[in-house]
Amino acid sequence: MAFAVVAVDVRGLRSAGFHYRIPPRLEERARPGMRVTVPLGPREVTGVIVALDHQCPVTGVRDIKSVLDEEPVYEEGLLGLAREVSRYYAAPLASVLWTMLPAVIRYRGRTVYALAPGRPEVEPRGLSSAGARVLEVLAEHGAMTQPELEQSTGAGRAELARLMALELVQRHTTFSPGARSRRQVFAELAVPDHQALQAAEGEAKRAPRRAELLRRLVEAGGKVPAQGTSRPVLDRLSGQGLVRLVESELPRRPAPGMKDPVVSFVPTAEQAFVLQSIIDLHRRKPGVCLLHGVTGSGKTEVYLRFIGEVLEEGRQAIVLVPEISLTPQTLGRFQERFGDQVAVLHSALSTGERYDEWQRVQGGRARVIVGARSAVFAPARHLGAIIVDEEHEYSYKQEESPRYHAREVAIMRAFQHRATVVLGSATPSLESYTRAASGEYQLLTLSHRVDGAELPPVTVVDMRAEMKAGNRSMFSRELGEALEQVVQKGARAMLFLNRRGFASFVLCRECGLVIQCPQCDVSLTLHRQGRELRCHYCDFKQHTPDTCPVCQSRYIRGFGAGTERVESEVQRSLPNTRVLRMDSDTTARRGAHQRILEEFRSTPGAVLVGTQMIAKGLDIPGVELVGVVTADTGLNFPDFRSAERTFQLLTQVAGRSGRGGPGRVLVQTYHPDHYAIQAAASHDYGGFYRQELAWREQAGFPPFTHLVHLVFSSPDEEAVARAAHRAAAGEPVPGVRVLGPAPAPLSRLHGSYRWQVLLAGRDRDALLELALRVQEAHEGQKVRLAVDPDPVFMM
Ligand code: ADP
Ligand code: ZN
Ligand code: ZN
Repeated sequence: MAFAVVAVDVRGLRSAGFHYRIPPRLEERARPGMRVTVPLGPREVTGVIVALDHQCPVTGVRDIKSVLDEEPVYEEGLLGLAREVSRYYAAPLASVLWTMLPAVIRYRGRTVYALAPGRPEVEPRGLSSAGARVLEVLAEHGAMTQPELEQSTGAGRAELARLMALELVQRHTTFSPGARSRRQVFAELAVPDHQALQAAEGEAKRAPRRAELLRRLVEAGGKVPAQGTSRPVLDRLSGQGLVRLVESELPRRPAPGMKDPVVSFVPTAEQAFVLQSIIDLHRRKPGVCLLHGVTGSGKTEVYLRFIGEVLEEGRQAIVLVPEISLTPQTLGRFQERFGDQVAVLHSALSTGERYDEWQRVQGGRARVIVGARSAVFAPARHLGAIIVDEEHEYSYKQEESPRYHAREVAIMRAFQHRATVVLGSATPSLESYTRAASGEYQLLTLSHRVDGAELPPVTVVDMRAEMKAGNRSMFSRELGEALEQVVQKGARAMLFLNRRGFASFVLCRECGLVIQCPQCDVSLTLHRQGRELRCHYCDFKQHTPDTCPVCQSRYIRGFGAGTERVESEVQRSLPNTRVLRMDSDTTARRGAHQRILEEFRSTPGAVLVGTQMIAKGLDIPGVELVGVVTADTGLNFPDFRSAERTFQLLTQVAGRSGRGGPGRVLVQTYHPDHYAIQAAASHDYGGFYRQELAWREQAGFPPFTHLVHLVFSSPDEEAVARAAHRAAAGEPVPGVRVLGPAPAPLSRLHGSYRWQVLLAGRDRDALLELALRVQEAHEGQKVRLAVDPDPVFMM
């Protein structure tokens, strides 16, 4: 008799799966890595077979009901990785397994809810907050079952029915990855590459068109659509046995990234040295490299060439980027270099595209996988390398269970495959840099820009002095003048401000009221030139009142400028200038990023205003001025990483300037002496690192300790406080510091009160053990508890 261990969604973090009997009719089919349906209590649920077993440790074992897959959707290695991630992040095994699959694979054949195609851009007014959350969650996940939606949004069946009636959401009774792909005829090489090239060489004179097609085939990885090639040429080549015609499915492919003109260049001496070091490490004993390269030092070129080596070995590579939509250029460079061998995995793809890309990776046809966080789980069997570009980025951390960090998972996964990891950044995280400094990772440095240009000079402008001099505008005199000069000579400028909207809060100057979100403990932000108030946490919206809702005074207005305000201010002072804005409000539509960037790039004298979206990875020549409107937004956050974040952001924004020409940077601040600002202004990573590290050690924060963040939340304020107190009052554990309980900095969100407890200590396992015990003691309560190991946002 045969049994299977099946991972299913259950409360409790320690469950590694339950035994089920495999009934004789399924014995042939059931294999590890396949999805199955099994009875669980009174319900039938979907689970994953994680192992087979000859015996069963318990009695009363029940039968597997059905097997949902023909082939395993997880290979052996991914099952092992799931166990490791589940332990390391104290997350249920099933939730890790589900996270590894795109929704299209995860729900194949199940009943799910998904966003309706062609739903209106603007959400109808009067949508309940649970309804709005459903839309948000579905946009992120693609599809979800009803119980899952209810768990993550609180929306019940009635709410879903309402959304369906509004034609915002659809139900699919058997979820499938969209219509079948088209079939198409391809010309395929019938001989190995070198033979084809030899033949091309031999025919170059006599039959140039045949030679050319052979070369094209080799470049394209052995296969091109027959359409668009000349029929007689094809016939001759197939007559010679060099090429054959095949009919196959044309996978739905995502739109390509941004194309730069193809240029090939000789690596600089630094690039060549770094590349050789990575290759040496890779051949000798694969491990982790930290590539610390200043902005514009050509890190991408190093990745590309290293991946070329890995492909030569017949292996695959995964390239993680913080957010695909923010890095169309990076994606474009990979596609240019590796053509059809590149697969892209990210949330903005259509269902069908995502399904086909995933299949191409699993089938081994895609060999370079570029994607955001979850691409670290791409089903590549022959992995040789994982690149984590901008490794310091916070979007690599998942803010819902399993709360994994893609950089750490990349390292776990690479170890299994004996693959090499390259972490790249101009501003490495303190965690990674410390490990590199201790020799755990190999530290490699690119300290010069490729074109030999200096990093742009940075001027810190003291806004207190501007204030004293009577300048009440958001631009210092220096920034105002610099902007005008740059625009007049037809160069380009970027203005950075990490706050979207028109004004960040609305205040009544008679009674002091700040208009707040009715469901969250935050002020509402003014949008659309002041006509609308919005909550940036729950997306609550209302019209801006003309008078104070409390004292009826007419003296209410917005304070604290956002990107919209900067945009209109620039437009007012430089009326004939093309001003573009890039933030999450202007980039909601597909392809909007790319359009804005292309317009900026092709318009002399244009000004681009934006949030952190413009800070990252953009390589646009001719940006002569970067202005940071206020550097202080992040400094005042109650978070131990606020200095690190500020330093990283300023360094990255400054790095957009002076590529392929002159450039300068102006940073406006009320804290001109802060070490994060000073270090960023002098391009001094080392100086920042030493000072920040000394402070972290003294304060007992990572990388000297580990943290586990416990967040309790519920609409019942007293119950939350009680639960948090109980958790903090448990028996002391040696080596674990318990900080709190205290209300979280965001003390109410979506109508739920929030309290937190922070566990800190050097022994990560001890922290996790304590967190699991708290979790188990908490079991069965109405108050929600989120356990977050290695937290990134502690708000
Ligand atoms: P980083 O990611 O380190 O900021 P990029 O990889 O974006 O830098 O490279 C900056 C620019 O330099 C890109 O336009 C790239 O094509 C170009 N580049 C890279 N290597 C070289 C080289 N060896 N010679 C000339 N240009 C190069
Ligand atoms: Zn008032
Ligand atoms: Zn809100």
